Amino acid sequence: MEAALYLHVPFCRRKCPYCDFYSVTEPPDEEIYLEALFTEARLWREHLPEDPVFVTFYAGGGTPSLLSPDFYGRLLEGLGRIFKLRPEELTLEANPEGLTLERLSAYRRVGFNRLSLGLQSLLEKGLKALGRAHTVEEGLRSVETARAAGFENLSLDFIFGWPGQGLKDLEEELAAVSRLSPEHLSYYELTPEEGTPLYQALRGGSLRLPGEDLLVEMHRLIHERLEAAGFRHYEISNYARPGRECRHNLFYWRARPYLGLGPAGASFLGRRRFRNPENLREYLKALKGGRLPALLEETLSPEAAFREAVFLHLRLSEGVRREEFRRRFGRDPFRVFSREIQELKRAGLIEVGEEGFRLTFRGRLLANQVQLKFL
Ligand code: SF4
Repeated sequence: MEAALYLHVPFCRRKCPYCDFYSVTEPPDEEIYLEALFTEARLWREHLPEDPVFVTFYAGGGTPSLLSPDFYGRLLEGLGRIFKLRPEELTLEANPEGLTLERLSAYRRVGFNRLSLGLQSLLEKGLKALGRAHTVEEGLRSVETARAAGFENLSLDFIFGWPGQGLKDLEEELAAVSRLSPEHLSYYELTPEEGTPLYQALRGGSLRLPGEDLLVEMHRLIHERLEAAGFRHYEISNYARPGRECRHNLFYWRARPYLGLGPAGASFLGRRRFRNPENLREYLKALKGGRLPALLEETLSPEAAFREAVFLHLRLSEGVRREEFRRRFGRDPFRVFSREIQELKRAGLIEVGEEGFRLTFRGRLLANQVQLKFL
């Protein structure tokens, strides 16, 4: 069985006002974290019903580039002794600040072959609106340095729909993005998450997001410009050059097994969903006591697993393919969802062929509502 291995790095230098990912701002103690991860991996190894072969490794966060190359070198070596770790794709998420050629070359040497850079905007006013710590110049330099360090598979992360952003700003940014020529791009619409400073500022009226119509125009512009520049819009928020789709994230979207280490790490194994506490202290305490910190969130019935797989596949441009679902689940999605498919097709939200169905451009804009029809 092939699976994906995720590591959550719960450290950030400071919190960005829009972010609700779990992280703490205290400096990381690499030794303690490394030991905890080894204990967690060994405990998982005892509990796993099968012995999966991990074909991807993804260090996400938080800010994984706060941890040293040496930390990852030792981690990968140690995990390789515990698991069947044969990753073909190893991704490191990184923030532009502090990325020297020496550091990036060292990440490359310990095995990372894919770098995901959190640029978020190529305009100073965008970075300011998002409360990011780096400048445009640092962002551009990090791309150059990553190339010089030998990263041939580069993903750039952007956020659109920030307060004050206009269509012209986005056009300017997209032209600059094309010139950077990455292999992969993520373009996320800014979503105010409850409890974040951004959410409070919006509620208090001191900030305003672009209106609905403008956001639709932005979605369209991103889609058109990036497709014209040779990227395939393969997932709602993700674009890739052919063959450069993120293999790791495809495990999530195709409802394939994955194991998540570290606080807030999520796992999906044999229809069971687990989650680690979003609390570094609790996580470390459990492991010190020899306990796996993961809590079982739910066990999906075969029916629920089938529905969830349809729900997730709809995020992808490949959509829901009849034969694949028949083979995997022994059920034909066209039969199970004949009424929903007809309704959504009439509403112009999905397109239907002989082989399967998928979201239209309009359907992508309303993806959350469309997906829910299948759960
Ligand atoms: S956006 Fe990234 S860098 Fe900012 S707080 Fe969240 S995880 Fe940390």
